[in-house]
Amino acid sequence: MLSGDDLENFGYYDNFEADENIDPMDYSLWVEKKIITKDQERLIENILGLVGETGEVAEKIKKLIRDGNKIANEEILKELGDVLFYTTALANLYGKGLQEVMKLNIKKLDDRQRRGKLKGSGDNR
Ligand SMILES: [Mg+2]
Repeated sequence: MLSGDDLENFGYYDNFEADENIDPMDYSLWVEKKIITKDQERLIENILGLVGETGEVAEKIKKLIRDGNKIANEEILKELGDVLFYTTALANLYGKGLQEVMKLNIKKLDDRQRRGKLKGSGDNR
């Protein structure tokens, strides 16, 4: 079975095309190649990046509401891509990758929906 390292050694990620369907595992490995910080510095950079990029999404929506500015969907999608990048970087840092985050989130929200707990507050409702 090929590993991510094998694919990297073959140059697979060097030829990643943005218009292909992208497997979350491949995206996680691609993100990992873009990370330039390590250890504690990485944690801080990744979390500040996530908060900053989330703020950029909010800022665009704020201007849409406050000023009536037209915002192309692509502008929002690009910022969401930045949020996804840092989300993936943090998922990688905690050793699970984006695919595991997706699975855990689906499991959690499906469980809440089955129990009628989508509304409300609390992490463990
Ligand atoms: Mg951005």
